[in-house]
Amino acid sequence: MNAFTNAPSTPPAHASLLTGLYPSKTGLFIFPEIGSHQDYYYLNQEIDTMADIHSDNNYLSTAFTGGGWVSKAIGLNKGFYSFVENESPTTNDLLQNCTNALDWIEKNRGFKFFLFLHTYEIHRPYNHHYFSEIKEYYKMPHTKASYDSGILYTDLVLDIFIKELKRMKAYDNTIIIITSDHGETHDEHNNISGYTYNHGGSFFDEEIKVPLIFHYPLKFKPKKVNKIVGLVDVLPTLLDILKINSRSGELDGDSLLPLINGERINSSFRDYVFVESPAYGLSRCCIRTENYKLIKVIKRIEIFEEDANKSLSNHPSILFYDLKLDPLERKRVDLLRYKKEIEKLENLINLLNTKHNVIELLKFPFKLKMKKGGLSDKEKEKLRSLGYLK
Ligand SMILES: [Zn+2]
Repeated sequence: MNAFTNAPSTPPAHASLLTGLYPSKTGLFIFPEIGSHQDYYYLNQEIDTMADIHSDNNYLSTAFTGGGWVSKAIGLNKGFYSFVENESPTTNDLLQNCTNALDWIEKNRGFKFFLFLHTYEIHRPYNHHYFSEIKEYYKMPHTKASYDSGILYTDLVLDIFIKELKRMKAYDNTIIIITSDHGETHDEHNNISGYTYNHGGSFFDEEIKVPLIFHYPLKFKPKKVNKIVGLVDVLPTLLDILKINSRSGELDGDSLLPLINGERINSSFRDYVFVESPAYGLSRCCIRTENYKLIKVIKRIEIFEEDANKSLSNHPSILFYDLKLDPLERKRVDLLRYKKEIEKLENLINLLNTKHNVIELLKFPFKLKMKKGGLSDKEKEKLRSLGYLK
């Protein structure tokens, strides 16, 4: 799939993945901890999650996560019968999480199940040294090599995981979805994003492009889908495949099943992805189509100022990229020359606002409920170990 996240940071991206809603509607659209601010955001517990819907339909639902932000602390466990998160988060967690998941499947054979398996294996602080001796890496910067080794290692462990599923005869009739909450920058746009190796503050493709694979041997033939899709589409697709309904009505995403089945889709099928990121002093959104990208500042958020870096506080109210001419997003275009295209994308954002209220929510982030009291020292320590908090 040609997939993009709906938010380039962990909590809102997971919220969209698990609810099928745009981040601003989940309560978790903002990075949960704001500088020294004591309160933090929490998944709106009135929204049905992927786990809720599966539980309602007699699937045993369980999660094995790396902890950190993918945690009970911000409410992402909603609807899971069991939610096991690593007590001491590490970037080397996949083998353990897979082993726990396989043990769980073995123990619960005979039941329909929904398993959410999460890992920080390819995550800052990139201390994955598993393959650091591989010769081909010797010319590359160490960080990039370490990141690559995390990807390679993840592939190898997933291969073992899939072989075990086959051995347990739990493979053919299981839908496997592989994706990521966001990408990662490796110094591509340091001059604008203000950071070298990270995610969360920009809408450049290296941060918002994600892998997305739907695998279901009984029903799907191998196929590449080029149309632009978002994480918000995962839940509607899954429900369409399983022929079950969401309890809470309309989701923001669309089912991708027609694309997967190679059916003719009508011309009104969405041809863009909508991304939000209220972070580093700016509440912004982005529309990414096949050819263009528009980034729009909705509001400058003063409460962030202690965290905001200088380059972002000078962010222009609109950024526009012509991706056909400039796929690496290096050139600021002449906005007047692209007046028509910009207007079209701005209209699209306004339409989204009419339908989903997204701009209004991005304007008033602090009207949403916050959980009082902040994170516990233990929770903060876990986040620190993954490089999230200083
Ligand atoms: Zn993340």
